[in-house]
Amino acid sequence: MTAISTPSGIVRSLRPVQLALAISACLSVASVGVAQRDMSSVEMKAEHVAGKVHMITGAGGNIGVSAGDDGILFIDDQFAPLADKIRAAIKGIHAGDLEYLINTHFHGDHTGSNAIFGEDATIVAHENVRVRLSSPDNRGGAAPASALPVITFDDGLSIFFNGERVRVTHLPTGHTDGDSYIYFEDSKVAHLGDHFFVGRFPYVDVGNGGNAEGLRSNIEMLLKSLPAGTKIIPGHGPLADLGDLKEYFSMLNDTIGMVKQAKSAGKSLADVQKQGFGEKYKEWGSGFINSDAWTEIIFSSLN
Ligand SMILES: [Zn+2]
Repeated sequence: MTAISTPSGIVRSLRPVQLALAISACLSVASVGVAQRDMSSVEMKAEHVAGKVHMITGAGGNIGVSAGDDGILFIDDQFAPLADKIRAAIKGIHAGDLEYLINTHFHGDHTGSNAIFGEDATIVAHENVRVRLSSPDNRGGAAPASALPVITFDDGLSIFFNGERVRVTHLPTGHTDGDSYIYFEDSKVAHLGDHFFVGRFPYVDVGNGGNAEGLRSNIEMLLKSLPAGTKIIPGHGPLADLGDLKEYFSMLNDTIGMVKQAKSAGKSLADVQKQGFGEKYKEWGSGFINSDAWTEIIFSSLN
């Protein structure tokens, strides 16, 4: 039996065979749960990262904010019941108008307030974010028009805002099939969305085009291309740097390698889960994705 804690705080005990379904349903549980969950106690905390860029944490994915003479460009918007608090937190940083909202990917804990902020800001995201949000198969049904990205791209684009180039670049076949990272060139800040869970095994949405090996390749590319001194806003967890990202990459290499080797030796998923990742990675499984869930994600990512 495996116990997982969902974002809505429900703890379920599951047999391994049920785990894949449960994990793919987690975000659905998150969106449904949030509608009923009392968010009144959630506090928004803003911190300055570097240059024009700030980070806001609350519940759900971390929010990045560029604030300056051109107004506000922000990245991701957590859950709809938090929209007023997010707006107030942004106002506390700068009084400018909301001009652009970039979605790192389509998951509900990163796009939950799109319908509200889409009335003010122009939403920008990878083409697959629009495809998935507008699909009737989207959790909770097709999103309303105001929640959809109005500028989409295949590989990437730049927005020149608050005196610097803001580069938005697609990360193929990683956490989902529609992820991007955002890099603020002069501030030297990157927002990596859910490609990066600091010090924790990541969730990879294999059912929506994600892949653990693809995620590892994307992190390898980022480690080669992000300049020294870059500060990193992760999808979940505290503000980080390239040292944290290197540690994360090393964990991805080790754990994916272990599962790959065991699978090619003919071991079953249950065998590999039983084997685990050892003491070294115990703490990494203490978050949303435990060791068994991460093993299953890797197992199902391997061809
Ligand atoms: Zn996500």
